[in-house]
Amino acid sequence: MSAYHDHDHAELGPPVLQEVAENVFAYIQPDGTWWINNTGFLAGSDGVIAVDTCATERRTKLFLEHVRYVTDQPLRMLVNTHHHGDHTHGNYLTYPATIIGHENCRELIVQSGLSHYPGVFEGPDHPVDWGDLQLAPPTLTFTDNLTVHAGDLRAELHYIGNPAHTTNDVVVWLPDSQVLFTGDLVFNQGTPFVLMGSVSGSLRAIEKVRQFAPKVIVPGHGPVCDIAVLDQLARYYRFVADTAFAAEEAGVGALEAARSVDLGEFAELSDPERIVGNLHRALFELRGGPEGGTIDIVAAIGDMITFNGGRPLRCLA
Ligand SMILES: [Zn+2]
Repeated sequence: MSAYHDHDHAELGPPVLQEVAENVFAYIQPDGTWWINNTGFLAGSDGVIAVDTCATERRTKLFLEHVRYVTDQPLRMLVNTHHHGDHTHGNYLTYPATIIGHENCRELIVQSGLSHYPGVFEGPDHPVDWGDLQLAPPTLTFTDNLTVHAGDLRAELHYIGNPAHTTNDVVVWLPDSQVLFTGDLVFNQGTPFVLMGSVSGSLRAIEKVRQFAPKVIVPGHGPVCDIAVLDQLARYYRFVADTAFAAEEAGVGALEAARSVDLGEFAELSDPERIVGNLHRALFELRGGPEGGTIDIVAAIGDMITFNGGRPLRCLA
């Protein structure tokens, strides 16, 4: 392990394996900022089902080691909550598990490859060590729902129904224990990010998450939580929509609007520069663009870097 990683761990603390229901584990990686996601797994009596992998080879291998601390059963299935690289780059390390995702998840991974947006994200002292990544999109896809089993553990996979964080957000619902893995439909303590999804769709998705009435939420980033987190998420999306509306009235773009708006209660969330990307998405929708429609991602990310003082976005992955 390099000096950088020692420093990295000292600063962030090690990942935490948390048993959120009997034989159901959340794997929480501090501090939940850019590219540092959560995963999890169901340790069934006849096999393991994992939920997401990590951004780098090193982080995914460490996650899989934690699975081995709990069970000797083979990893039979991996569910991807959406296509983003922080949740899917490590997919190849689960081979020969069946990789399951929404059909748009597969399509976008195949389309975008293993991009980690060179020049956009950088560690404080060094480039991020992504490792020897290999492309491994879902091999089993679905459009609405699918149920998977590991021993007597049963998990329902539900497409959330509309563009939200992305165009392929899937939640993993455990009806017996009322645990919900939300992927990035829920950021806990971090700024939500809907550049590749929809602001209005995210508001509806929050209500769909609420309708499961989960006792425990394993968010895509940040500590395990409950439905109380949804109120702040909804407030944030309304704040983004309102800010975009005012910007459009004033004839200013996303970057200028982000620079002049007071983030208020949301200033304490990590990665606040996401407001710029979120405003790009909100303005697109305000001008009649469809939820999840194609926008200029490169321009939006460029504005986020400008907002960040011209520096790459801080990434501790
Ligand atoms: Zn994501």
